[in-house]
Amino acid sequence: MHEMGIVLHLAKTLTQTAKEQNIVKISHVTLEVGEVSGILTDYFSDCWDYFKGRSELLKDSVLEVVTTPAVTWCDSCKKTYPTVKYGRICPYCGSGETWLLYGNQCVIRDITAEEE
Ligand SMILES: [Zn+2]
Repeated sequence: MHEMGIVLHLAKTLTQTAKEQNIVKISHVTLEVGEVSGILTDYFSDCWDYFKGRSELLKDSVLEVVTTPAVTWCDSCKKTYPTVKYGRICPYCGSGETWLLYGNQCVIRDITAEEE
């Protein structure tokens, strides 16, 4: 599944980062997720819970998800507009020549290590 893949990737990245910074336990993870990434589902939380329960590093961690707005670029009139509100059609000129600029990313913004 899509979500499981993302969670696996996330856990892998966290494990790698923890290793580099000598972190044995993570207490808090801030994840930045784009509005149209399609992963803000209950299933994503379920996957995360399932995975973290099996990891010493993440067992007691809290996952905080910060949503960032999606922005689309219109190639016809060279303007940007909010993706979720207008979809693929530019609200200024009605063109369909549009591209998603931001909004489908999933990046780790911050990790807090648990104090000994
Ligand atoms: Zn336009």
